[in-house]
Formats: sequence, structure tokens, C-alpha cells
Amino acid sequence: MVDKIVLGVESTAHTFGVSIIKGFSVLSNSRRLFTTNKGGMIPVKVAEHHIDVCDDVLKESLDVAGVKLKDIDLIAFSSSPGIGHTLRIGAVFARILASKLDKPLVGVNHCIAHLEIGRILSGLQDPILLYASGANTQIIAYEAGKYRVFGETLDIGIGNFIDSFARELGLGFPGGPKVEELAKKGKKLVDLPYSVKGMDVSLGGILTNLKKKIDSKLFSKEDLCYSVQEIVFAMLVEVTERAVAHTGKTSVVLGGGVACNSRLQEMTRLMCEERNIKFFCPEKQFLVDNAAMIAITGLLIFESDGCISIDASFIDPYKRTDEIIINYR
Ligand code: AMP
Ligand code: MG
Repeated sequence: MVDKIVLGVESTAHTFGVSIIKGFSVLSNSRRLFTTNKGGMIPVKVAEHHIDVCDDVLKESLDVAGVKLKDIDLIAFSSSPGIGHTLRIGAVFARILASKLDKPLVGVNHCIAHLEIGRILSGLQDPILLYASGANTQIIAYEAGKYRVFGETLDIGIGNFIDSFARELGLGFPGGPKVEELAKKGKKLVDLPYSVKGMDVSLGGILTNLKKKIDSKLFSKEDLCYSVQEIVFAMLVEVTERAVAHTGKTSVVLGGGVACNSRLQEMTRLMCEERNIKFFCPEKQFLVDNAAMIAITGLLIFESDGCISIDASFIDPYKRTDEIIINYR
């Protein structure tokens, strides 16, 4: 395991990434992001973007790593969950490389990969993951052979929620960083629904409430951004804390683009300090969608389960985290 060189491919959504790792050391982590000036992600357009950039990203990643294609021992690609159109591009890219180089291939679940990279980088054995990204919002932890989802959004992902709110405010995409900047200037906590249902959160109703408040012009952008962060992040941290209490686990790691938010990091860290458990937040390049986490998880899977044949290298846009049997833990 120590010396194996793995090439990872990420393509579940807006990011096309290629990473090279040696053992668990990340040698390169290249990526290109699909962006728009106006409007959101149209799957066919994002897939075209990935096709356009894939050769460049591969070349850059190999150059940065100082590795030649012939040195690669294993190819890992994100096989679930995600946008079908874009998953397929990464899968085809990985299959071509595997067959051309005659190297083994493994498929990786993207959500689990966010947890594994936090685990490997931190050295924590068994953390709970608060995964807060555009489309996904889940609290994930290992129990009895699987990664279980202890809590999640019942409707939209936290990042998509923040982006929709930002769009209503006319802030453009992606809205998260802009909302964070404005929130720093907010002072007044505006009353918003606090929507935790059991172990899950619901964000759609808060968005409707916010739209009405924006239309009313009674509230400043700064106060709305501040209040959104305070209330919605508190909901996520509450559910994470209850997952900690339920499982008895002694550490929490963050993952996903929304976890780049310093207030979410602070609130999660404070909760961990109060409970006297460990907290780890990966650096930004490993929080957002990245191929290094796919390579790392691919290596773990390969060492325990071996590879898959090209014929069996399916993608599954809807596969859930808790459907996957984990043999390496
Ligand atoms: P991902 O899907 O994991 O790539 O994350 C993308 C999401 O993260 C988008 O919805 C962004 O608006 C959001 N995001 C990025 N940076 C921040 C931030 N500083 N605060 C809140 N959300 C953020
Ligand atoms: Mg992600």
C-alpha cells in the first residue's frame, strides 16, 4: 500500500479533477471548475466542459506529481452519487486509461470519499463527517460494516439553499463566499424558522420565508446573511452533536464546499470543544470536490476488495452512502 501510485478521477458535478497519490501522500490534486456568469448548471453543458478540460487536467496532474502514466498502479473514479452526464465522462475517462495502461480500476462513492480523506489527513480513527456541499447535506458515520447516514436534509442541499438565497439577493453564483462576507457585517438576528425534524433538517421552508423577507425590503442584506448563517449552521451542528451523543464517537471532521465557511467551522469546533472531542477541518483543496479523496478511497477499497472489471464499472447517480458494504474497516 505504501508505494502504490494511484490516479483518481472526480466528476460527480461541476468539478473535473485528477489527482495522483503515492500511498496516502498526495502528489498532485488538479481540477477545473465549471462556472457560469448567469444561471446554474445544465448537465449537458457541464459534461461538455469536462470533455474539453480532461486532457489538460490529466497532463497538469502528472506534471505536478512528476509521474508518468506508465508508473500508475491503480485508477480510481467517482462512480456515485452525482449527475449522470458528468459521472459518465469521468467513468469513460477512467475506463480508457485503465484499458490502455492495462491497470486495475475501482469505483468510489463520492460522499464516503469526503469522510475518508478527513480520516486519512487527520489520523483520526473513527470520526463523524458533517458533509455540507452544494447538493449533499449529510451527517455520516461508520457503524457495523457500513457508513450510515445519521441525519440529512429532507429537501435541498445546504449549498444549493445558500446559492438560491444569494441569487434572490442578486449576489451571483456561487453565493456561499459572498453570503459569508456580508454576514460579517450583519448585527441583528432576524427571526427565521428553525427547522430540525428528528435527526434531519429541512431548508425549503426557510428559503420561502427568506424570499418574502427580501421582497418586503424591511431587512438589510447583511442582517439576512448573518441570520441565515447563524440559524442554518446551528441546525447542522445540532444534528451533528446528537449524532455524536448517539454513537459515542469522539471526533468530527468537516467536508464539502460549504465547510469552507469560517462560521460553520467555528460553530462545529466550539461544539466539539464543549463536548471534549476532537475536531478536524481539512484544508480547502480537500474540502471541495477533489480527486485526491477519490484516489485515497480507491486505494483503501483496492487493498481489501481488489478491482472491478471494465464491464462492471457502472456509474450510479442515485446510490446512497448506506448501500455500500465497507470491507476495509
Ligand atoms: P461543493 O458542492 O462541495 O463543491 O460545494 C459548493 C457549494 O459550497 C456552493 O453551494 C457554494 O456556494 C458553497 N460555498 C463555497 N464557499 C462557501 C462559503 N465560504 N460559505 C458558504 N458556502 C460556501
Ligand atoms: Mg462533494
